[in-house]
Amino acid sequence: MPELRKDPVVDRWVIIAPERANRPSDFAPAPRRPSGARHCPFCPGNEAETPPELLAGRPSASARDTPGWTYRVLPNRYPALKIEGGLDPAAEGLYDRMNGFGAHEIVIEAPEHDASLATMPADWVTDVLMAGRERMLDLRKDERIAYVLFFKNHGEAAGATLEHPHSQLIATPVVPGLVAAELAGAARHHEIRGRCVWCDILHQDRGSARLIVEADGFTVLAPYAPRFAFETWILPNCHRSSFEECGLEELQALARSLGDLVRRMNRALDFPAYNLILHTAPLRAPTLPYYHWHVEVVPRLTTVAGFEWGTGFFINATPPEDSAARLRESGE
Ligand SMILES: [Zn+2]
Ligand SMILES: [Zn+2]
Ligand SMILES: [Zn+2]
Repeated sequence: MPELRKDPVVDRWVIIAPERANRPSDFAPAPRRPSGARHCPFCPGNEAETPPELLAGRPSASARDTPGWTYRVLPNRYPALKIEGGLDPAAEGLYDRMNGFGAHEIVIEAPEHDASLATMPADWVTDVLMAGRERMLDLRKDERIAYVLFFKNHGEAAGATLEHPHSQLIATPVVPGLVAAELAGAARHHEIRGRCVWCDILHQDRGSARLIVEADGFTVLAPYAPRFAFETWILPNCHRSSFEECGLEELQALARSLGDLVRRMNRALDFPAYNLILHTAPLRAPTLPYYHWHVEVVPRLTTVAGFEWGTGFFINATPPEDSAARLRESGE
């Protein structure tokens, strides 16, 4: 059973999950092989090698855990957190711990091993977003779960261990520190200015050199103070605190926006590895006037080294005005 432990100095939770060490990988330790050369548990026909599916797109009504799907959602075989037992929070002297209660799910985004967000039709990407939304709505019924992070690691440098296109959901019993910091900062801005900080960012940045593209109710921009080269945010123009409250049309537009951004990154940066992160309000939070859900995309072009680890202070060699210009010019 995984375990959550809290650092007593900076209140940072870590997940101790020894089972994760048993994961297979397309990448290590053997040298990288051409795409598709290795047996893949996520390819159609290999459904028996994965845990039973929780949800799937089956347009021809094929049977569960057989081919014929367009996407599949399954529990991770090597979960960071598990739906099992209770939280059982306890003190060990000056330390706090709790069981690694939560969920870790995989969304296999397409049957094709070589598909990617850049090549998938927007309808398929919409289905993946809708599936993520449905899983979040289901997970939020469990009062013990505080937050769900929906994210994607694409490419070895971004932490992906399997090539087959997939994203993940990790449901945690505590609100993660970065999200808590965003909530606190946004609440402060709202208290002083009476407005949502991301609505203010949209207002100011749409006219700036950091705007990449705006279409269908979504604004794609390089943030004012990005930690990483080419860090990019996708903001819905319409204020909403929870992603899972989005309707189909909004997610269709987000799917088009994601495909467009990944194609721009592929052209500008030669098919980079990247992380894609959805930030939304904690589950069961009321509608918040100060939090605005958004997507953060970070191509993995550089590694985080001693100074960053030691300080939380990031050095970025690419001004966001330059990265925005490159991505703007790399449009279709
Ligand atoms: Zn595959
Ligand atoms: Zn807002
Ligand atoms: Zn964020």
